[in-house]
Amino acid sequence: MLSHELRHVHQYEQAGSAEAFLSRYIGEIIQFGYLDSPYEVDARDHEITF
Ligand SMILES: [Zn+2]
Repeated sequence: MLSHELRHVHQYEQAGSAEAFLSRYIGEIIQFGYLDSPYEVDARDHEITF
């Protein structure tokens, strides 16, 4: 779970600003749904299972 959240921090840094990240994140959720949004898929792909 922690690694998932850290991946969102990384996505946020890549986006360049909170506004850029949130507008894209929310847009993806509206377009694809929460579970299928690219940011969520990416975060799940980078989760570390202990
Ligand atoms: Zn997430």
